[in-house]
Amino acid sequence: MEGSVSLLQAGEPKTGFAYVVEKGDSLGEIALRYNVSVKEIKKWNKLKGDRIFEGQRLRIEAVSLRSYTVKSGDTLSEIALASNIPVSRLRDLNKISGDRIYTGQKLQLASDRKSIETPSVHVVQKGESLWDIAKKYDVSIAAIKERNHLKTEVIRPGMTLSLKDGPEENRTKEKTDEGDSERFEYKVRPGDNLSTIAERFDVAVSLLKQLNGLKENRIYPGQTLQLRPTSLDEAVHVVRSGETLSSIALKYRMNVSDIKRINEIEGSKIVVGQELRLKGTKPNVYIVERGDALWEVAQAYGMGVGELKRLNGLASDRIYPGQELQLGTAPARSFGTYTVKKGDYLGRIARLHQMSVADLKSMNNMKSALIHPGDQLKVKPFLQKGSEWLKISEINWDDLMGSSGGLRKITLGNGPYYGSRPKARRQSNRRYYESARLSLWNTYKRARKLQVALDRKISKMGRLSNCLNGWHIVIDPGHGGLDPGAVVANLDGNGDKVYVVEDEYVYDVALRVYVMLRLNGADVTLTLLSPNHLIRHSDPPVQTFVNEKNEVYNSRAFNRGNSRSHWPKGGRNGNLSRRIAIAENAFKHVPKNRRMFLSFHADIDHSAPNVPLVLYYRSRRTGRPDRASKRFAKSIQSFLGAGTVIRGQNLYVLRNSPANISVMLELRNLAYMDHAWALRFEELRQRDAEKVVRGVVEYVKKKG
Ligand SMILES: [Zn+2]
Repeated sequence: MEGSVSLLQAGEPKTGFAYVVEKGDSLGEIALRYNVSVKEIKKWNKLKGDRIFEGQRLRIEAVSLRSYTVKSGDTLSEIALASNIPVSRLRDLNKISGDRIYTGQKLQLASDRKSIETPSVHVVQKGESLWDIAKKYDVSIAAIKERNHLKTEVIRPGMTLSLKDGPEENRTKEKTDEGDSERFEYKVRPGDNLSTIAERFDVAVSLLKQLNGLKENRIYPGQTLQLRPTSLDEAVHVVRSGETLSSIALKYRMNVSDIKRINEIEGSKIVVGQELRLKGTKPNVYIVERGDALWEVAQAYGMGVGELKRLNGLASDRIYPGQELQLGTAPARSFGTYTVKKGDYLGRIARLHQMSVADLKSMNNMKSALIHPGDQLKVKPFLQKGSEWLKISEINWDDLMGSSGGLRKITLGNGPYYGSRPKARRQSNRRYYESARLSLWNTYKRARKLQVALDRKISKMGRLSNCLNGWHIVIDPGHGGLDPGAVVANLDGNGDKVYVVEDEYVYDVALRVYVMLRLNGADVTLTLLSPNHLIRHSDPPVQTFVNEKNEVYNSRAFNRGNSRSHWPKGGRNGNLSRRIAIAENAFKHVPKNRRMFLSFHADIDHSAPNVPLVLYYRSRRTGRPDRASKRFAKSIQSFLGAGTVIRGQNLYVLRNSPANISVMLELRNLAYMDHAWALRFEELRQRDAEKVVRGVVEYVKKKG
């Protein structure tokens, strides 16, 4: 979660601006979009009638929104960000305690009193003068200069200006238990230099310079430095429902033509979930995106991690979204290459790379949608090395999935399945589910058979490494049985709704992790098993996994009873304690410092950003974190990718876990369209699984 300080700083000033009319716009629509009246727009632009024309520039004055109606997909923190007020204030004004808001809800953005609260800080925007800022916040230029130790009135975009005296640092500290590693800004003290600050806050010197618009290494006592990127610094935007190219351009203060040029877009059509870059590539510089891990960047460009760190003055493996990484002699790719597989079609390839079919076609100068296996297509830049995925995937998954324990293998797009397959080919609404066909006991017996066959195959495969020898890791797919977790709507390549099911996804990722941890020498135990599938493919992705209520606990004892109450169930009246019991049993003869418990999830959390989240136990009463798990969370953070958040929380399975290291991994946040659709692609599930394994392996290596 972002602290209140960063939200304040990232806010956009909402004084006047020019809106360029697009084809099909009407005055009414524009008025609606900016929460002003048609009459006002006409007055500001001296318009007599309602006629407007494409390309016309309309002046929109003083958009001081007093209320806002929540739209589908909005989050409280985004609304706060866009309206330049802290989340805490938004909560107070609307008497909300958590982060839950609903579509259509009317949120108060200002109190009834006329006064507008002055934020503590302001980040200078392109083209802003000190005079603009003083006017905006109703403070004097002299006061701003004094407070910020400015000798002249020259300011630079990106500079953070303090607007009033406040215990900014203390407030940041109270909000988080991460201390220095998560601080958002820092006031330079005498004797500081950029490298000591960079080391202390785990950021690169080059990133500090990038964020603060510094040309050289000189800094001054009293100067406030921004330490981490805000969402505006990330230089990437994922298109949301209702957005147009011009509304996005407006949001980032860019020209539509620049966005089109950078993204090689020809028309003005964009699709929901499409990823737009906001900064062009420079030669030999890679701009980090959310979820990119340093080791992935290194691998994609054929470099060593050490080399990349040296080149960029990185003290650790942690990188941030929007950070510019020097690649040395390797030229940054402005596009990637995708090799067409059997059964591929353009819509699938476009979705995988978060672009539209039209852009994919124009990028490749294609007249028709006809493609053939083996064709090479230009795609949006992607961390991918030619046609091969990351090196660790040299495992022959198809061979592994040949194991069936004598059960009939059914090859379906979203399979393979063993013994039985779901009746439906896709999850077509939120409520759909299929109950298990066999009794609990027979389901368990079948699931064991399938698992034993897989284990036998793994044992015959050799090893990727022996570095996890002696470790026992319990893998807990966070949902299953009667509890599907989150079921979320998503759009397929044709814009039709399809649904993804959390438990089916986490089981797939958990199993991929299971295989790879074993191939690195670990003993691994799954808390849940499925009777009819192992890992699965996803072609075509329109066939998503159906909510099957047939997973069982991986324990003879818990299934012997053979009654409905023994199926896995979540929530307050569920049987989560069985996950703990299975772990206790698995760890029986394992030394405490060789036990690890990983619980996998992909929940909907509107208040969290669209990045992975690692949770460790933290006592609600004392606020004290489980230190070993927190250390692990911190370590795996950089391997899960840029932007990954870690947090202490009081959760049942973490509180009761018998392992020394216990974390819950929210690998995807289904509140976001791009994450929901990522679940449908095998390539992206595999990438998620590899990041986890890499994080575990590197942690153990470092620990020795
Ligand atoms: Zn979950």
